[in-house]
Amino acid sequence: MFSANSPDNHEKSMVTPKKLQRNLFGIRIDALRMNEAVASLNQWIAKPFDRCRFVVTPNVDHAVLLQENQHLRDSYREADLILADGHPIVWASKLLRQPLPERVPGSELVPKLFDSSSQSGNPMRVFLLGAAPGVAEIAAKNMKASWPTVETVGIYSPPLGFEHDAAESAKILYLIDAVRPDVLVVGLGAPKQEIWVHQHRDQIGAKVALCVGATIDFLAGEKHRAPLWMQRSGIEWLHRMCSEPKRLVKRYAKDAWIFPQLVLRQMFGAPFSI
Ligand code: UDP
Repeated sequence: MFSANSPDNHEKSMVTPKKLQRNLFGIRIDALRMNEAVASLNQWIAKPFDRCRFVVTPNVDHAVLLQENQHLRDSYREADLILADGHPIVWASKLLRQPLPERVPGSELVPKLFDSSSQSGNPMRVFLLGAAPGVAEIAAKNMKASWPTVETVGIYSPPLGFEHDAAESAKILYLIDAVRPDVLVVGLGAPKQEIWVHQHRDQIGAKVALCVGATIDFLAGEKHRAPLWMQRSGIEWLHRMCSEPKRLVKRYAKDAWIFPQLVLRQMFGAPFSI
């Protein structure tokens, strides 16, 4: 298996100029619009492979987890693009005078990236990593119908607990390396996906890895995003919570308690310990 672990490959090609970097809750977030983010991804894809660049999309839950999870912080520190997934992050950015122009959710970024391939006619090779067994196969079928220039060259649904098994990670890296995709869509849930990609970034043979949660489920039609009016009014979280209450009620209750404290902390200039 190859390793991209040479000093040159660790050069940070920071696509986002300093003036477009915001500082929120102790992390950098890039103040890009959706079309600018897609353009950055296409720039990376157009270049010959040198290393795997990766993208994370913070929401309120990430902001909260980052305060307590060192591995997630390490991942965020090295991410090549950090895009605000949720409305509350954008609202807070304006309140805290670190303005982000709009939200760039991972679940929209992926279809927009595929749209760009259709529009330009440039083929795009994609590997789908994650989601329950069988789901990525349906996603790949739907993708073929919607975006003929986008080819799914690999699919793998790792077993539960795979992140504790070095052999499983080696297998995933081998499968990716065998097809060298342009784009690795990683749908393993947070913070697992961000941590796994960060820890293996030097061995991932894809030009770009996108840590995008339930996106493969959305592409397959297994899960549905909230209606547009809910997305626009910033209550997409409510739709998600109602569709998976067992998993999400406790998480959102904690986030609703901690996130306003993070906003206040930044408002009053108190330091973040991250
Ligand atoms: N998932 C997975 N392997 C795991 C854990 C989760 O493939 O070990 C998938 C799960 O099937 C679903 C996605 O990760 O497709 C969860 O995405 P979501 O954004 O809902 O997770 P969150 O980040 O909100 O926890």
